[in-house]
Amino acid sequence: MSDEYTESRSRVRCGTLPGVPILDLHGRPLGSLRLSVTDRCNLRCQYCMPEDEYLWLPREDVLTFEEISRLADVFGRAGVDRLRLTGGEPLLRRNLAALIADLAAKPWLRDLALTTNGVLLAPVAADLKRAGLHRLTVSLDTLRRDRFEQLTRMDALPAVLSGIDAARQAGFARIKLDTVVMRGTNDDELTSLVEFAREIDAEVRFIEYMDVGGATQWRPEAVFTRAEMLTRLEERYGIVEPLIEDSSAPAARYRLPSGQTIGIISSTSQPFCRTCDRARLTADGVLLLCLYAQHGTDLRRPLRAGASPEMMLDLVQAVWRGRADRGAEERLHTRSRGSYIPLTVLKRDAHLEMHTRGG
Ligand code: SAM
Repeated sequence: MSDEYTESRSRVRCGTLPGVPILDLHGRPLGSLRLSVTDRCNLRCQYCMPEDEYLWLPREDVLTFEEISRLADVFGRAGVDRLRLTGGEPLLRRNLAALIADLAAKPWLRDLALTTNGVLLAPVAADLKRAGLHRLTVSLDTLRRDRFEQLTRMDALPAVLSGIDAARQAGFARIKLDTVVMRGTNDDELTSLVEFAREIDAEVRFIEYMDVGGATQWRPEAVFTRAEMLTRLEERYGIVEPLIEDSSAPAARYRLPSGQTIGIISSTSQPFCRTCDRARLTADGVLLLCLYAQHGTDLRRPLRAGASPEMMLDLVQAVWRGRADRGAEERLHTRSRGSYIPLTVLKRDAHLEMHTRGG
């Protein structure tokens, strides 16, 4: 085991036995939870929801705020101290600020973030800030209005830009902008997005196109790799310096000669499963350990059947301790790579979709 790895273990706190982190079969600690609050989305991004029809989670299965809060506490006791709310589009969930206020008050919580497409952000940005949300990530794949519409099937770029503006005015600092880069679609906008991020004091993170469930049009040629992104940036800015950081965050960060920093998430060409400390909870309470997981563990049923917090904690700990996946790394070694889950299979199980598991 490397020093880097031993260090990341020792940083982790543990709910039940202080100082003894829960480790999976590869020695990875459980540290963060992505909570999907809805599987519904108002956009139809080409890389995530390109189909015309979807199978949605039954409404009665979707966890209430009270159930989410109870489960969050179970994860807090299991060692999680960072939460990210996601979806679907989380701002479609009515009165999300109430959930944020509840979560923000958890004594074990160190970081509370939200990932949104920004379409509905402008009217609620100040409420989210007041409710106690720490950080905001806005997905933004293009700055061109016509391209935005082509990519998402909604003419909503002006709404997203107003949302970002409102968020800054509400006091969100260093907003993150997440851009999925696809060859031939938006790879010509890297530098425009870098300039935009500089103007609004945000950090842009370029994400490689992944062949996750739902990306039914994925093909290897459409992946614009980290190496290519760096070459493109260096052509324009000169030397792009990697930052050496001890972090379980998915983005590798770089500094441009101007001092501006950017991130690159190279999940496809150079996956980082060994530092993954993330668990995911779908809106209907299925615990997933990997974006590529084909099965999860239903926490809703035992919760609704009256399981005690201790029983839920035992369950979560047992699942994490048995974790062995390295999904993105295994995909890297797949010989002829196309979309991961065939459409016919996706149509039978909404849990396999990226928009259900939250990205
Ligand atoms: N609706 C919210 C949003 O748009 O940010 C949250 C959910 S969305 C599924 C979360 C993230 O997943 C987004 O940043 C999106 O870009 C990313 N994503 C979805 N499909 C992807 C793919 N095939 N490859 C890489 N990233 C993907």
